[in-house]
Amino acid sequence: MLKKVVSLSLFFYAGLCFCMNLNSDGPTQFLYAPWRNNYGSEHKPKDAVNNQTECPLCRNVNDSDDRKNFILLRHKHTIIQLNLFPYNKGHILIVPISHKRDLHEFTPEEQFELIKLIGESSRILQESLKSDGVNIGVNIGKPAGASIPNHLHIHVLPRWQDDNYFLSMLAQTRIISVDLNKIYEILKPQFESVLRSIK
Ligand SMILES: [Zn+2]
Repeated sequence: MLKKVVSLSLFFYAGLCFCMNLNSDGPTQFLYAPWRNNYGSEHKPKDAVNNQTECPLCRNVNDSDDRKNFILLRHKHTIIQLNLFPYNKGHILIVPISHKRDLHEFTPEEQFELIKLIGESSRILQESLKSDGVNIGVNIGKPAGASIPNHLHIHVLPRWQDDNYFLSMLAQTRIISVDLNKIYEILKPQFESVLRSIK
């Protein structure tokens, strides 16, 4: 139980740092990714039956073409996919299958799986992409920065020394998305091995 509480506390702290872009080494630094402004408009197809905006995450959950959607792993309550509009290479989303807005709405089993997969994802990104660090974050509600506010998702973002400089120099160009296929090929086998080990 204590272990679970500690894990959740760390998780929320990491999320807070991610959202506020805190950096303990110096002045506040910001990741700037203007292409993400298109996320809402490019990913809101209409539901033909209800004529309502379809949730893009539910669409990925229900679509069987994982390669097309860059889904790296499907587990009992969760999928993991590459972010199609990444801050940098290897930016992944951990998405609970249930369409729920906030962490407290999930069952303990769903929450446990979420925490477990966040930990495994962090390890894989550091090992496979040789990142120096990882941001783990969640934005709950639109004012907090959630681009899809009604379906909770966790960002896991590999970080390299001095990548803030790199990103600010190249931020006007969507250079990252062209590497999605390559990143997918690198990460997919790693996540498949996680699936085998936690089944
Ligand atoms: Zn949804």
